[in-house]
Amino acid sequence: MIQLRLKSECDRNLAPFVTRIAEGEPKCEEDATLTSSEAGVLGYRNSLTRFRLRDVAPAEIAGDVLLIDPRRQIAHRLIRATSPHNTFLVTERCDQLCLMCSQPPKPQHQDMFAHFLAAARLAPPGAQIGLSGGEPLLHKDALFAFIDAVFATRDDLSFHILTNGQHFERDDLAWLRKHRTRLLWGVPIYSDDPATHDEIVGKSGAFAQLAPNLALLGLAGAALELRTVVLAQNALYLPRLADFITRHLPFAATWAIMQMERIGYGRMNWTRCFFDSSIDFASLGAAIDLMRARRQGVTLYNFPLCTVPPAYRDLAARSISDWKQKYLPACRACSLRASCAGFFEWYREEDGFMEIRPQ
Ligand code: SF4
Repeated sequence: MIQLRLKSECDRNLAPFVTRIAEGEPKCEEDATLTSSEAGVLGYRNSLTRFRLRDVAPAEIAGDVLLIDPRRQIAHRLIRATSPHNTFLVTERCDQLCLMCSQPPKPQHQDMFAHFLAAARLAPPGAQIGLSGGEPLLHKDALFAFIDAVFATRDDLSFHILTNGQHFERDDLAWLRKHRTRLLWGVPIYSDDPATHDEIVGKSGAFAQLAPNLALLGLAGAALELRTVVLAQNALYLPRLADFITRHLPFAATWAIMQMERIGYGRMNWTRCFFDSSIDFASLGAAIDLMRARRQGVTLYNFPLCTVPPAYRDLAARSISDWKQKYLPACRACSLRASCAGFFEWYREEDGFMEIRPQ
């Protein structure tokens, strides 16, 4: 697994700071240049201080943007220069308790926006950065101000924001319109049946709040990616949800149907929730057929390619972030591996897909 945190050493009296590992000559005062490399320890210097990083090669982190925490002697790789999977965790707070949540909420919140702003300004040209939680819009004013500040100096960047869609208001319309070409909103909807959706997200009245807020995003012309994790609780009703989406949310750019991640509550509730689409793809296939017939976009995330019938494989994205992706021993000789999403690092064969068939 790719390390997102590195052991670092620097003056413990310093406040946390953002720095970029320079590729060649430094371009700004945040850029750090390599000063030494001995026995697995790299020495760097920027305009503020000197610091060291352990157990990493210079080429692995060239161009990366790091948040260095001197007190804990850790360097967080906020932006990996060569990865398309960079995400800022805005908060761990959330007002929902989804059955399969991979990042169970915590009550405390640490405001990191100043560091995120410094990091975004150092991002590679044209980068799309994910913003997730928890629920980022619990801190909506700070989030919107952060995005405004980033765009004020970096008009080449864009954000993919994961939100439960509970916190939009009519007053947000002008702001949503202003940034509609540079923000992609990933919003979950688990069922067209309010009771089922509310049961899955663990919040009474969630669907009633979500529906008008999705309409508001449509009114703003916002780019919308609807997201549905396939679960035992909703799998058989996906064709109904597809019908609901095409009739009520035709402005959604795509509908991402996703397989579950076995971590957090997803691990705790795996037996209760995992739907093995490798042995039963019928309802997914029917839902996809309906979406295609009505010419609305649909994507499959986190599906190993051999679990998807050939007629639908063009929809399966290599969606699992590189730092938490793995393949099974059986995948070694598979001709589809280069285009297959593979598995989450924490996937277990014992209670996972029944039909994994190298091609
Ligand atoms: S065998 Fe492995 S690499 Fe091949 S399609 Fe299945 S999951 Fe992907």
